[in-house]
Amino acid sequence: MRIVRFSDGDSPHYGVLDDGSTRVVVLKNDPLFAPVEPSGQIVELEDIHLLSPVIPRSKVVGVGKNYADHAREMGGEAPDHPILFLKPNTSVIGPDDPIVLPSWSQEVHHEAELAVVIKALAKDVEPEDVDGIILGYTCANDVSARDAQRADGQWTRAKGFDTACPIGPWIVVDPTLNVTDLRVSSSVNGEQRQSDTTAHMLTPVRELVSYISKVFTLLPGDLIITGTPAGVGPIVAGDHVEVTVEGIGTLSNPVLRR
Ligand code: ZN
Repeated sequence: MRIVRFSDGDSPHYGVLDDGSTRVVVLKNDPLFAPVEPSGQIVELEDIHLLSPVIPRSKVVGVGKNYADHAREMGGEAPDHPILFLKPNTSVIGPDDPIVLPSWSQEVHHEAELAVVIKALAKDVEPEDVDGIILGYTCANDVSARDAQRADGQWTRAKGFDTACPIGPWIVVDPTLNVTDLRVSSSVNGEQRQSDTTAHMLTPVRELVSYISKVFTLLPGDLIITGTPAGVGPIVAGDHVEVTVEGIGTLSNPVLRR
């Protein structure tokens, strides 16, 4: 099952699609906060504008250097524990929304990532219990201004600016999804940039969610982006960047400079 959030020109709505289907069963309420209850309306996927499938109420938690090859390409060693950072919810955009390059950066990179959507208030959760607090998974692009990252010595501006967190196109709710071995890839203007599997994460997904829950209380709608494989590179105005996660889908965004 896939959960979508969409606009029909009016206020945001929620819907579910069965795998392989293009028929969206519209829901009465936000499935994060209410039982899944159809409104009786059906719409076609091609007739609606998908929004980011969730706007985190409190936080997007990011993880630095969670693939050894990416740590090396950034000129560092693989860390011995997950390096965490936060992106504000104002950085979140949806599928096909433009990534707007900030005026103060000349070196913005894409980072393809698997994203975890949290469904329950949670603290100090052990890895074997994390499936109970996860709603599902989506694709994320951890857009990063490398020049600001180097200049500031920490990552708030570099990774937190408006439009720096495209997510979508939907949340996949599938207990059979093997998140410990999914291919994560990106392309720019159709040319592949990144491709690796989550099997190569230094800290795998369940251990990562557990580790993060021992730092922050997690709230429904919070997002965890799980780190990017090697192959990051620049995006410039006019580019079109895609992030694909196996078993989930493709998140596509144009890039522009205002
Ligand atoms: Zn990242």
